[in-house]
Amino acid sequence: MDVRNAKLNSSPANSGTNLMSTLKHRLNQVYAAIREAEHACGRPAGSVQLLAVSKQQPVTAIAELVAAGHYHFGENYLQDALPKIQALADTEVEWHFIGPIQSNKTRSIAEHFSWVHSVDRLRIAQRLSEQRPADQTPLNICLQVNISGETSKSGVAPEAVVELAHSVAELPRLRLRGLMAIPEARTDPVEQRRPFAQLRQLQAQLNQQGLKLDTLSMGMSADLAAAIAEGATMVRIGTAIFGPRPPRT
Ligand SMILES: *Cc1c(COP(=O)(O)O)cnc(C)c1O
Repeated sequence: MDVRNAKLNSSPANSGTNLMSTLKHRLNQVYAAIREAEHACGRPAGSVQLLAVSKQQPVTAIAELVAAGHYHFGENYLQDALPKIQALADTEVEWHFIGPIQSNKTRSIAEHFSWVHSVDRLRIAQRLSEQRPADQTPLNICLQVNISGETSKSGVAPEAVVELAHSVAELPRLRLRGLMAIPEARTDPVEQRRPFAQLRQLQAQLNQQGLKLDTLSMGMSADLAAAIAEGATMVRIGTAIFGPRPPRT
């Protein structure tokens, strides 16, 4: 072993550099996996957007990806997200809120985010619309659907989506973009695709009724290809880019 190299590699500055290049490398790998999945099912390259899920990750990691040209980030916890949003206020980052929403947090979400993927009841949507600042573009909204019918998960029941979607579409400061789901984890590839197909069918049904939904927010690190095969337009990827999440402090 070359001692000089060992010393170099253990210096703080250099380990920082290694961490950064790992992040960029993983980002590129995820982009490549998305392109491959698009190609495999005959979808045009670039039809799926990548949302990097940066919850529990430090702002330095986000800044590194911004420097690499990635601008869409998803956060689940408002209080963790706000300092990161402030630190990166001079960049073009678009923030997506993807976590459960308490009604006392809607004003801050309406002010600081471009997208909210996790709207599952009308009262929350009404508050977001009322509180979206007038000088900003309408807030992009996805309705979170509890597609696997799990009692522990948030999301509107599939039977109630139609009514909620038509009500949300009427709200002046929101722009209803589509549907989001976090299906139960499945290892069988056929089973894995089924809930994604159901979400796509719900979107088609709503569009037949005159809504104009262009977004299916579905697919995470473990099921990205299955989601893309069923029509995902935005995949939400955390672990595959950032590695395992440190525990929330
Ligand atoms: C954490 C999270 C993700 C990312 O999950 P990974 O498995 O780390 O890719 C995606 N969507 C939501 C709503 C999340 O909470």
